Amino acid sequence: MKALVKRHAKPGLWMEDVPRPTIGINDVLIKVERTGICGTDVHIYNWDAWASKTVPVPMVVGHEFVGRIVEVGSNVTDFHPGELVSGEGHVVCGRCRNCLAGRRHLCADTAGIGVNRPGAFAEYIALPMTNVWHHDESVDHDVASIFDPFGNAVHTALSFPLLGEDVLITGAGPIGCMAAAVARYAGARAVVVTDVNPWRLKLATKLGATRVVDVRSESIADVQKQLGMKEGFDVGLEMSGNPSAFRDMLQNMCHGGKIAMLGIPSEDMAIDWNTVVFNMLTIKGIYGREMYETWYKMTVMLQGGLDISPVITHRFAADDFQQGFDVMLSGESGKVILNWN
Ligand code: NAD
Ligand code: ZN
Repeated sequence: MKALVKRHAKPGLWMEDVPRPTIGINDVLIKVERTGICGTDVHIYNWDAWASKTVPVPMVVGHEFVGRIVEVGSNVTDFHPGELVSGEGHVVCGRCRNCLAGRRHLCADTAGIGVNRPGAFAEYIALPMTNVWHHDESVDHDVASIFDPFGNAVHTALSFPLLGEDVLITGAGPIGCMAAAVARYAGARAVVVTDVNPWRLKLATKLGATRVVDVRSESIADVQKQLGMKEGFDVGLEMSGNPSAFRDMLQNMCHGGKIAMLGIPSEDMAIDWNTVVFNMLTIKGIYGREMYETWYKMTVMLQGGLDISPVITHRFAADDFQQGFDVMLSGESGKVILNWN
C-alpha cells in the first residue's frame, strides 16, 4: 500500500510502497479516506530535536484520519466492515491503575500512532478495537478527519465551566481557533484570542472569537479595559506553547482564575509564581483527549449545530502532500486535509 514514511533521519517525508498492516483478533483494519496534517507531523517532517529523540525510523507518520472499516478481528463484535470511523491516536496499556479506573487518558504507558507505532498517512491502518470511534454518517468527512485536534480543543476548553465566563485563548493556531468556537458554543461571554500572526487572528474571528489581539501591537490589559472587564479573565486556555504568551495570561487572570494548558513549551520556562500563589490560580495540564468522553462531547456538539469547518483552509490529494506541508510551514493555514481516495 501507499504510505507517507519517515524513511531517513533527516528533514522530509517520502511516499512509499509498504506492506499493508495485518490485524490480530482484537483489531480493526481501516481504509483511510482523509487525513489532517498536525503540527506534530511538521515537527517530524522538519526532524527537530523532539522528533529525532522520539520517533524511530522508518515510521509511517500521521494520526488524524477518517476512514471505513474493511476487516475486523474474530473477537470484534461492535464494529463492522463499511462503518465510518476515526481512531483515538493514543494506544494505552489497559491494565494500569488509571486505565482500570476508566481514566485511560492518564495511562503512563501510552503509545502514539504515527509517532511510536505505524500511523494513518497510509491507505490502511490497523488499530485495537478499543481505539476506534464510530462516526455518525451525517458528519462532514473533512471534520471527521480532524477529531483528534478538535478533541484537544474540546478537552482543554471544557476543563472548566464556561457559561457566562470571560475566556482568554493564547495562540490562534488551528486548536486555539477550534477552542474559540467551542467556548462560544459552551456559553462563554468574551472569547478573546491572541496571536502574533494576523492571518491566524482573522481565522479566529471566523471561528467566533469575540475579540482578537495581536500582542505585538496591543496589550491584553488594554483590551480588558476596552471590554469593561474589571477583574481579569475567568478561564485561560494556553494554546501557543509560547512562554511570553503564558506569562501574559498569568498577569491577566482574575483571582481564582483557572488555566488549562495544552501548548507545549519547547524548553523550561520561568513564570512569576507569586502571581499563581497570591491570586490563587489553578493550572491544569492537558494531554490528548479523554477516552471517550471528549469524543462523545465532540459528536453531540456537532449534532447540536457547532460548526468548526471554517478551520479547514486547504485540501490536497495525498500525492501532493508536499504542498500541504509547505502551506503548514508558511503559517498561513488552518487545518490542511490530505485526501487518500
Ligand atoms: P500552532 O503552532 O499551529 O499554533 C500556535 C499559535 O501560537 C501560532 O499561530 C503562533 O503564531 C501563536 N503564538 C506564537 N507566539 C505567541 C504569543 N506570544 N502570543 C500568542 N500566540 C502566539 O499549534 P496548534 O496545532 O494549534 O497547537 C497548539 C499548541 O498545542 C501547540 O503548542 C501544540 O504543540 C500543542 N499541542 C498539545 C497537545 C497536547 O496533547 N497537549 C496536542 C496537540 C497540540
Ligand atoms: Zn494504562
